[in-house]
Amino acid sequence: MINNIYSKKITELREKADMSKKGLADRVNTDEETVTQWENGESVPSAESFYKMAKLFNVSMDVFFETEQPMKEKDLVNGMESLNQLYRIGRGPSSSHTMGPEKACVIFKENNPDADCFKAVLYGSLAKTGKGHCTDSVIENTLSPVPCEVQFDYLKTDIEHPNTMDLFAYKNGEQIDFIRVFSVGGGRIEFEGSSSAKEPIVYKLSTFKDIKDYCKEKKYRLWQYVHEVEGEYIWEYLAEVWKTMKNAIETGIEDEGTLPGGLDVQKKAKYLYNMEHIGESAETRENREVCSYAFAVSEQNASGGRIVTAPTCGASGVLPSVLYYMQLKHGFTDRQILQALATGGLIGNLIKTNASISGAECGCQAEIGTACAMASAALGELFGLKRGKIEYAAEIAIEHHLGLTCDPICGLVQIPCIERNAVAAMRAINAVNLASFLSDTRKISLDSVITTMKKTGMDIHAAYRETSEGGLATLEI
Ligand code: SF4
Repeated sequence: MINNIYSKKITELREKADMSKKGLADRVNTDEETVTQWENGESVPSAESFYKMAKLFNVSMDVFFETEQPMKEKDLVNGMESLNQLYRIGRGPSSSHTMGPEKACVIFKENNPDADCFKAVLYGSLAKTGKGHCTDSVIENTLSPVPCEVQFDYLKTDIEHPNTMDLFAYKNGEQIDFIRVFSVGGGRIEFEGSSSAKEPIVYKLSTFKDIKDYCKEKKYRLWQYVHEVEGEYIWEYLAEVWKTMKNAIETGIEDEGTLPGGLDVQKKAKYLYNMEHIGESAETRENREVCSYAFAVSEQNASGGRIVTAPTCGASGVLPSVLYYMQLKHGFTDRQILQALATGGLIGNLIKTNASISGAECGCQAEIGTACAMASAALGELFGLKRGKIEYAAEIAIEHHLGLTCDPICGLVQIPCIERNAVAAMRAINAVNLASFLSDTRKISLDSVITTMKKTGMDIHAAYRETSEGGLATLEI
C-alpha cells in the first residue's frame, strides 16, 4: 500500500458531493476500480487527475496536500531567526560538515580550558561522508594544540539527527566533560538537552502567506519587511555578505589547477569564463558566464575557500552567480543587490524554518532547491516583480527540485555539486522569467511546496541523503 495523504481527502470530497465512485470515475476519465485504488491508498492519481478533481469539487489543489495529522509539537513553527543565521560567512566545503563542527569545537574548547586531550565521535552522515568533507581535519585543527582523536561510527543508527557528533574532554586520563552536538544545516548547531545554542527569533511571521498579507497591508516590498524586523544593521551585514560573494567569484574565475580530495577534478571556472564560442549567441554567452560564476564560487568552496552559505556551502554558488551577472549586465546598484539578498534570504529562511536546508536531512532538494528558490526570488526583486510573482518564481524553483537526491561522490562537495550549482543558477533565471510572463493563476502556494519538500525529504531513502551510499556516490571513478 502506498502511504499517501490523498486517499481520505478524495473519499471525503466525493461523499460530500454525494457522488458515487463510478460518478467520480466518469468525471475524471478513469474507471471505478482506479478510484477505489486511490481511496484505498493503493495508487496515487496523476497530476491531471488531481487537477480535474480540484475543479470538480471546486477546491484548491493544496487541499490534497494538506496533512490530516496535527503537526507534532516540535514541528510547530513560531517565528524565524535573523538572516545572519542563514547567510554565514566562512570556509567550505560543507556548512554541516565543517562550519557546524568547527563552531561546536570552538565552544567546547572554550568551556574546557584545562583539557589535555579531546575525543570526537561522528555518527550518521557526519561519519559516512566526514572524511570527504574534511570534518576530521577541521575538528583537529580547531581543538589544536590540544590533541584530538576523531572516530567514525558508521553503525550507530539510533541518533536523533543524521549529523550527530559527541565531544569528550579529558584531563589526566579522566573524562571532565561531554556534549552531544547536532549539526542541523547551514552551519547551525544545537546541543542535546540545551537550548543555549538556539539563536533568537526575530521574525514573528513564518509563512509566506502571512508575510505577503502583512506586506500588502503596509504596502511594503519584501525587503522592507526585512528592514523593519532586523533594522539598519542588516544592511551592513548584507554588504559584508555581498563583498564575500563577489570575492569568491573574482578569485574563482582566476583560479586554476585541481581540487583537493583525490578525485582529480579540474577547476573549470576560468576556462568557462574565457572560452568564448565562435559566433556565440547572446543566450549561450549568458549561460556560459552565469555558469562560470557558479563554478567559481563552488570551486572555491570545494577548495576550503571563504564563501557565504546561501543557504549552505554546497549550494553557495547559485545566488551570487545570478546577482553578479545581472549587476554587470544591467548595472544594478549595490543597494539594489542588497535588497535582492534580503528578499532571497527571506525565502531561504522560510524554507529553513518550515522544512530543511540540510542535504543530510532532506536530500539535495533542500540545498540546491532552496538556493534556486532564493536566487529566483532575489532576481524577482531586482526586476521589480510584485510579491505574488516573486512567490511564483520561488515556488517554481523549489517545486522542480523536489526529490533531488544528495549523493556526492566520495563524500566530496564536487561531483555532482559544482555542476548542480551552475544548472540551478540557469534554472533560477528561467523560473523568474516564467513567473514574470504568467499571470498569477497558479494552484499551489509557496508554503505548500515547502511543506511538500519536507515530506518528500522524509521519504527519500537514507542512501540518498548525504551518506554516499547510493546513486552517483556508488560509481567507480
Ligand atoms: S549533492 Fe547537493 S546536498 Fe549533496 S553535498 Fe552536493 S550540493 Fe550538497
